[in-house]
Amino acid sequence: MSLQQSLSQIYLDANATTPVLPQAADAALAAMKTSFGNPSSSHVTGLRAKQIMMQTRERAQRILGSGEGEVIFTSGATEGIQTGIISALTAARQSMESGKKYCLLYGATEHKAVPESLKHWNHILGIHADVVAIPVDNKGTLDKEFIAQHVGDALMICTMAVNNETGVYQDLSAIEQVIRANNPHVYWMVDCVQALGKTGLNLAQTTIDYAPFSGHKLYAPKGIGFVYIRKSAPFTPFIAGGGQEGGLRSGTENLPGMAALNEIFAIMLGESDFAFTPNEQLHKFRHQLRASLEKAFGNVVFNHDFDNSVPTTLNFAIEGFSSKEIMDLFDAAGIRVSSGSACSSKVTRSFVLDAMGLPVWQSEAAIRMSFGPAMTQSEVDEACQRIEQSAMALGHSCLMSQHHIDDKAPLSGLVQFKVGGSCTWLYVEPSDKSAIVIDPLSEVSSRINTLIECQQLNLVAVIDTHGHADHQSSRNDISDKYLASQTCDHLGWPSNTQSVSVGDSEFEYIEVSNKWLVRIVTPGHTNDSISMALCEPVTDHLDAQYLFCGDTILMGSLGRTNFECSNTADMYHSLRYIDALVSRDTLLCPSHDYNNEFTSSIDAEVARNQLLQQTLDGVINQQQFVNQKDVLDQHIVDESGSEIICGAFVGECQKQKMNEYDSESLARAMQSKHAIKLIDIREPHEYALEHDASFDENVPLTRFVQFINEHKHDKNAEIVLLCRSGSRSYVAAQALIRLGFENVGHLKGGYALY
Ligand code: PLP
Repeated sequence: MSLQQSLSQIYLDANATTPVLPQAADAALAAMKTSFGNPSSSHVTGLRAKQIMMQTRERAQRILGSGEGEVIFTSGATEGIQTGIISALTAARQSMESGKKYCLLYGATEHKAVPESLKHWNHILGIHADVVAIPVDNKGTLDKEFIAQHVGDALMICTMAVNNETGVYQDLSAIEQVIRANNPHVYWMVDCVQALGKTGLNLAQTTIDYAPFSGHKLYAPKGIGFVYIRKSAPFTPFIAGGGQEGGLRSGTENLPGMAALNEIFAIMLGESDFAFTPNEQLHKFRHQLRASLEKAFGNVVFNHDFDNSVPTTLNFAIEGFSSKEIMDLFDAAGIRVSSGSACSSKVTRSFVLDAMGLPVWQSEAAIRMSFGPAMTQSEVDEACQRIEQSAMALGHSCLMSQHHIDDKAPLSGLVQFKVGGSCTWLYVEPSDKSAIVIDPLSEVSSRINTLIECQQLNLVAVIDTHGHADHQSSRNDISDKYLASQTCDHLGWPSNTQSVSVGDSEFEYIEVSNKWLVRIVTPGHTNDSISMALCEPVTDHLDAQYLFCGDTILMGSLGRTNFECSNTADMYHSLRYIDALVSRDTLLCPSHDYNNEFTSSIDAEVARNQLLQQTLDGVINQQQFVNQKDVLDQHIVDESGSEIICGAFVGECQKQKMNEYDSESLARAMQSKHAIKLIDIREPHEYALEHDASFDENVPLTRFVQFINEHKHDKNAEIVLLCRSGSRSYVAAQALIRLGFENVGHLKGGYALY
């Protein structure tokens, strides 16, 4: 399918932001074109602008039930949060007793704007209170006993009405009772951003002091929000200046934003021709989406209960798939969702789901689907249809077992699975479907099992290159299932194999259809380390395509040799042994890929790893190697916090220059150079759902090493890579260039900007 006929988008990410409703956009445009005056001006144009502002405020007051409290317009909820916190802390500071320990309480699942602002102003105002998270239970409900215990010492307490990741709402009146029973005067802010238009509010009937809101979460544009301030609550302006908003918030008002909000408020109050979908119907929509997810992906798990969450949010995880994979899949199907997790440097986990005590995999794999009250039945139907198409596409790639699809894309050659910085390798000989698995990680074992069954592979062996210190091998899980009668050593190398002599050495090998997997004993990283060369049948030398070298040679590094079972001197000999046996352009398939480089070769490693180069070229002897390696291993830093890093990085990880195209420059290049190879490097299921007709070759990243091997004698070819957002294509292009490909480029911004 060409992108010109591409799928329209189904937008299911309303908790991040919403589109602007046409009537709100029209109102904003009219405010820019006609009623553009400054509400502070006393001429007619100014008065008309002021009228819009007053009407918007009046409607806001009715919606919030703000009574005698103030409603001040802001740029958004983050500003409203600052306003509440500064006001409360400035007042609280006056009454602090010296020597007494105070705290600032916030819900553990609060949007980051709240705890970060609390910490910031606590520091800036010199309050030095402890900033303490209130725990939640596994339903996301705040721990009231904890509040009762701690609120007596609190200067401020911040809770939220509805959570943005899960839609879980709090029982505000129960929280209020606990707070006021234990501290009648503590300042209380409730983040109401995700509650607007979804739950009723009657703020003046409560003792909530501050309540921030945001326009862009309910069909108004970005840049407009408002904050409620209880009548008796202290107030300090966050922005001083010309005295607008009665001196409470200076700066010329965002009239177009207010005009848009005014339309939204009119809809909420039933004063518009347009109506939002009633709540019961929204519940039905959510159930329909849920049923569709359950039908399409049997292994879906919901991360929150539906009985204490607003009907517009679903947060779920699909067992066996990362949130990134599902995001990529849904994006290809034209469904926009968000990963329910906040990205940290390496691991993506949701702190909200972590706080609820959900299993780690659910937190890592979380996907949030959210919609607003303008959702329609036809959009829900379309979303459900696309969810089912997405699951079919996974079945087509044999990544899901319950779909018995006839035209499965056959596997051929080498497949690389990555989990964090670790790799598992699967090799399939297409002629008779013989397969081997090297270094199986437990995270991918169910995927490998599904592939074996779906593709009807004949598993020959499952082998570890060494006893891994950093993770549990899942070798037994796989071999117990498919190789129950095979006897093998503790790494999975089969017993009674044949052997062949090369020079003075004897090597054991196993046959993988018409290829040989030859075992090379390479101790050093551990005393049981082996490497395996996948070769043509051996005559007098090893004609290897791939060398599975475990943690002996890593990309940009050498395996560490400071474990109890390591031997640095052995590593020296193993490196030289490998070099003598396989050619320097053989592709290395180590058990780690910390820097997204996919594969390497001895040539490429020697060019950036001086220790390896000096070792192989005989510039240093065994003792010098041991000395240098010991120093190097002392520099191993565990940056990820959870992973044992298996080698100190020694090589340069320089960013290579590449051709970066946009649509126009690519069109020009295609006109002038006919031989340009356009490759879509997304996974086959993404490609199957939608792709651009001119990118007629699909080389998924999991098969990229195979591609590199097939093209390693054609390094002049002009290649342009494309993916969803430009990040996978960038990384892949870097890898090709590092391996000596000379004319590699990618489409910057990927399909998203094409
Ligand atoms: N609070 C919650 C619960 C939110 O969901 C958001 C936005 O994601 C914010 C605060 C911040 O809102 P704004 O983007 O208007 O600053």
